[in-house]
Amino acid sequence: MSEIKVIDPVPDFTKFDSRLYLGMDVGGTKIRTALVGEDGTIYAFLKEKTPRDCEPEVTIQAIETSIHALLEYFLLPQNRITAIGIAIPGVVEPQSGDVVVTPNMNLTGIPLGKRLSAHFGIPVFLGNDGNLGTLGETWLGAARSSRNSVGIFVGTGVGSGIVIDGKLWTGAGHGAGEIGHIVVQTPAMGWKARLGNLLPESVVTEKVPDFPVCGCGNVGCLETFASRTAMEHEIQEALKLGVQSCIPELCEGDVSLIKAGTLAKALKANDPLVTVIVHYTAEVLAYACLTVRHLIDPEVIVLGGGVMEACHRYFMPIIEKITEADRLPAAPSQRRIVLSQLGDDAVVLGAVALARSGMNYGENPAEDVKPDSSRPKFVWNETLGVMNVGSKVFDSDFFVDEQGETFLRTETDGKIHRSELKSFVDEQISQIIIGVKGAEEAQKLKVTEKAIDFLTLKGIFVRVCPMEEAAEVMNCTTQPTVGVFFIK
Ligand SMILES: [Zn+2]
Repeated sequence: MSEIKVIDPVPDFTKFDSRLYLGMDVGGTKIRTALVGEDGTIYAFLKEKTPRDCEPEVTIQAIETSIHALLEYFLLPQNRITAIGIAIPGVVEPQSGDVVVTPNMNLTGIPLGKRLSAHFGIPVFLGNDGNLGTLGETWLGAARSSRNSVGIFVGTGVGSGIVIDGKLWTGAGHGAGEIGHIVVQTPAMGWKARLGNLLPESVVTEKVPDFPVCGCGNVGCLETFASRTAMEHEIQEALKLGVQSCIPELCEGDVSLIKAGTLAKALKANDPLVTVIVHYTAEVLAYACLTVRHLIDPEVIVLGGGVMEACHRYFMPIIEKITEADRLPAAPSQRRIVLSQLGDDAVVLGAVALARSGMNYGENPAEDVKPDSSRPKFVWNETLGVMNVGSKVFDSDFFVDEQGETFLRTETDGKIHRSELKSFVDEQISQIIIGVKGAEEAQKLKVTEKAIDFLTLKGIFVRVCPMEEAAEVMNCTTQPTVGVFFIK
């Protein structure tokens, strides 16, 4: 049994009368169980390996053992738990609590909800892991200020979910939100090839594309082009073709499994092969984001998963560039593409959100959002030419750090120097917003070469925008962001 990780401070549960839930993420390799309060506070969690190559019964027992262990550790009687939410990597029937299919594990056809609620005497609610990850991010993570969001989680495969008006959209047969299996390259034979003999012999026709088969059995699915597995296959094939790369060295000769962390290391070492593959993957994902936008137009698209977490500095600027170049018009809005904030916790918290709404406590997770009030609000006053930041008013240049703390600039030569950046930009920052008054000021803006090197090395995305837009980005962004404002 793995150790229970307790997150301080844990209340004295004997004197604590608020509702408690268990959120579980039953994955192909790990079972993660969390003890969670009504407001989404995680008190403790337990990580256990998923038994492999075994009867479904063994997996069910491992789930039960995890639940017992967590309850026993805190001396909690079973009836102290209001409900259990469980995320499954596959299709589930939420009403009956039956698992319909789990392609990568052995729970297909198991009435898991009924089994566990009979065993523990606690209501159990089941959902798909990508769906619940999106629900978790909408409740307490990167999409918490929105009511409509789509989550795309890039790992071994591509998991996803759709939240519309604060509730999961699972479709007529609970098959919705499978963005990993949207067809991004059609296997249909081209029209010229079909004309065959009708064309003069001199015309060369394209062959039927030879696509990899997806884990779902279809071809042309997004995850066969943009997932850790897809990147692994592409790198393996390139290595076989004789392309040089540091991957074999990083994997100590065995390239059968290339982890997301290894890809990140190779990127950091400027490995040309991995850089090309990452750029390709980022572009495919960017076009998938465009597809999502044209189909649903959510306020927020949350990007997460192991690959995204390890390599987001390389992915995000490419994805932003392509999605911002979208030529199909839409009304101006505050829609955005952001990184996941909850990481591994998104799924267990989404499972609890599902359990809460199943019990009709918190019908709609989007309605009991915790606003991030720790950062001051930016408001640009065009008439006076001043920026209000919380209760402060700036009529001269200033910068703002990640915590929202503001400092007057001392540089007066109109340039951004490395020394200045070093004072408030650290490893955690993913973007820097530079606010300027207009196009003319943007032209005049000089960032020294050393400052550019500093930002490039840290993988920080630079965005120069007019004051009003800069204020909006500072207010809306959920990524670690700093800003420099040229007021004078
Ligand atoms: Zn597929």
